[in-house]
Amino acid sequence: MADNIFAKIIAKQIPAQIVFEDDRALAFRDINPQAPVHILVLPKKAIANVGAAVTGDEALLGHLLTVAAQIARNEGIDSTGYRLVVNKGRDAGESVPHLHVHLLGGRSLNWPPG
Ligand code: AMP
Repeated sequence: MADNIFAKIIAKQIPAQIVFEDDRALAFRDINPQAPVHILVLPKKAIANVGAAVTGDEALLGHLLTVAAQIARNEGIDSTGYRLVVNKGRDAGESVPHLHVHLLGGRSLNWPPG
């Protein structure tokens, strides 16, 4: 198992505020929220970042988006809108080497991002 904080959350070795789980994905609230709704959606498979996804991961990557959209409906932000963000590498500010989709909403979000 990869030794990073998200792998430990998936393994239930450390706690998180989980809002969704199935056999392929886990979603929990970001510990340092940047919006009223800030949830991270992860594959349970250890994929370090989007650049490390391989042929065969397509359905899993798509699943993360449909899970994020379902969570957005559950959180009541579907009608007001939301943003999905995947950071990859230093310039994007990626800090945890396990692929994750940020779901941000509940306030007006600036564009372009900083
Ligand atoms: P990124 O910068 O795209 O790699 O995003 C990593 C995110 O993980 C940040 O928004 C952190 O606030 C969040 N984070 C780090 N540790 C935890 C944790 N233990 N529980 C929930 N979110 C976390």
